[in-house]
Amino acid sequence: MPMMGGHHAISGTAAWMALAGSTSMMGHAAGLDLWDLTPAQVIAGAVVATGAALLPDIDHPSATISRSGSGLTKALTRMVGSLAGHRGATHTLLAIAAFTALAVLVNGLDWQIQVPVLGEVQAGAALLVAVMCAFGTRALKAVKGRLLPWVVGAGSGLLVGVVAPDTSIWLPAAVAVGALAHLVGDLLTTDGIPFPTWPLTVKPPKRLASPFWQRSGDIALPLLGNAGSAREWLLCTVLTGYAAVTTIATIAGAPEVLSL
Ligand SMILES: [Zn+2]
Repeated sequence: MPMMGGHHAISGTAAWMALAGSTSMMGHAAGLDLWDLTPAQVIAGAVVATGAALLPDIDHPSATISRSGSGLTKALTRMVGSLAGHRGATHTLLAIAAFTALAVLVNGLDWQIQVPVLGEVQAGAALLVAVMCAFGTRALKAVKGRLLPWVVGAGSGLLVGVVAPDTSIWLPAAVAVGALAHLVGDLLTTDGIPFPTWPLTVKPPKRLASPFWQRSGDIALPLLGNAGSAREWLLCTVLTGYAAVTTIATIAGAPEVLSL
């Protein structure tokens, strides 16, 4: 059983808030503020990282991401799954580089659309946010049904296109952070992830094979035990608390985010 989609999603949110957030709590900075972003950008990045944390499981037909859409996403995940195998190619640093490169590409599309009331919107960035938001919303069960996550996604995509138009660095960075958080999550379970230099896999000599470096070459640091364990739930509860508090503090500290 793979780690749950909702848990991956929240790990993406928490990782982003830790790296990109800058809110202060009880006199301490809760977040490293790596990219010097405005509060609106931090929140939008959190939305993107949440959805991107589901991307590696695109190889798994029963995962949230494949159930997010219609027959199209199902067919896509079935294809990726049969090509890559589960926890194969899409769970590697190479795949994260590819996801990020794709985000850079979509984000950089020179394509503006005129939206009534909102004005000119960067379509590439809005599209990226919309899709990631739909995945994340669905995984966290924030709204019900199949269609509603996409409605929420489209809305937030347009909103980001307006409130945080400069998406040059942080949008692709949020994709990378989210996808990396997924790999870390799976690394912490007994199943582990492919050897980091994949496709160059180094298999251990027979007598050195262990739960940490498996016969297949997969590596694991199984602090959480099996996927879905009580420890996984506990960690994710803590991460949810951290993500919620830092997000609320970021919004509360920046009234202009609310007033839009
Ligand atoms: Zn996974």
